[in-house]
Amino acid sequence: MTIGLVYHPDYLKHDLKIHPENAGRLREIIKILEKKRLMEKLRSISPRRATVEELEYVHRSAYIHKVASLCREGKRRLDADTYISPFSFQVALLAVGGLLSAADAVIQGKVKSALALIRPPGHHAGPGKGMGFCLFNNVAVAARYVQERYHLKRVLIIDWDVHHGNGTQDIFYDDPSVFYVSFHQASLFPGTGLVEERGRGQGKGYNMNFPFPSGSTGKDYLDIFSRVLIPRVREFVPEIIFISAGFDGHKDDPLGGMNLTEEDFGKFTDLIRDMAEDVCEGKIISALEGGYNLRVLPLCILAHLQSLRGE
Ligand SMILES: [Zn+2]
Repeated sequence: MTIGLVYHPDYLKHDLKIHPENAGRLREIIKILEKKRLMEKLRSISPRRATVEELEYVHRSAYIHKVASLCREGKRRLDADTYISPFSFQVALLAVGGLLSAADAVIQGKVKSALALIRPPGHHAGPGKGMGFCLFNNVAVAARYVQERYHLKRVLIIDWDVHHGNGTQDIFYDDPSVFYVSFHQASLFPGTGLVEERGRGQGKGYNMNFPFPSGSTGKDYLDIFSRVLIPRVREFVPEIIFISAGFDGHKDDPLGGMNLTEEDFGKFTDLIRDMAEDVCEGKIISALEGGYNLRVLPLCILAHLQSLRGE
C-alpha cells in the first residue's frame, strides 16, 4: 500500500536565510525526491490549515492569539532562537493542519503511513510557549486530534530528534493515553529529558527519556530500541505511532554532537515499521522536526522513506 507525503510550497514562506531552520531545508529535500522520482511513487496529501480550536487541544488560547498578533504586527522574533515573519502564523497553521490531513489519510485507510514534510517544526512548543524554532506543537495537536476525532485510546510518539522534545513531554506528562518516548543528546538544548522524568500521576510510566552522551552511534540507539523500547511498546499496544523525526543527530549536523548516519535513520524506521505492523496495522505518521545540514538532511529523508515503503 502506498505511503502518503504531505508537502506544500507555502511551507517555504516561513524563512530566514541566516537561520539554520530555513526554507532551504525543504527545498533540498524536495529536489532529491524529484531527482529520485519518488514523488510519483508517493500519494500526495494536500495539507489544510488547522483551526484555532484544533490548536487549543494543546495550546492556550492567549498564546495562539499572541503568535497571530506578533506575526500580523511584523515582529521578527518570538524569542532569541525563534524567528517569525508576517507569514509565519499561517504557515504554522498549515504545518499543524498538514499533519491532521496525514492522520485522516492514514486512519481512513487511504495510505498505509505518511511522511509530513512540514515547517516550522513543533516538539519544543508547549501549551503556552513557543521556543527552539517551534511555534505550535504539530505532533501533539495531531495526537489529540486522533483521540478527539477518531476516539483512539492509545497514541505513541517516538521522538528521535537530537534535542529533547520538552513541549511534547509537558503536554502529555499527566496523560497515560499518549506515550512519549524521546531519544536525544544529554545536556543539549533545552536541557530537559532526564531518565527520571517519567510522567506524573496517572501518566507515570508513560514518558520515557533516553539521553545519550555525545558521540553515540546508531548501534547504541538500536540496542535501546530493541532491548527497552520495543518490549514496552508491545505492552502499551498503540493504535497509531507518530514519529517526531528530527535528523540533527546525524554526525555531520551542525547543531548536534551525535554520530548517526543516514542508514541509521533507515534502521530505526525498520524497527518501528515492524513493530507497527504487529500492533497497529503499520499506521505510522512521521513529522519532520530538526536536521540542519542541507547536504545530509535529504539523504536521511531518503533512507527514512525507503524504509517506510518497506524497501
Ligand atoms: Zn532538534
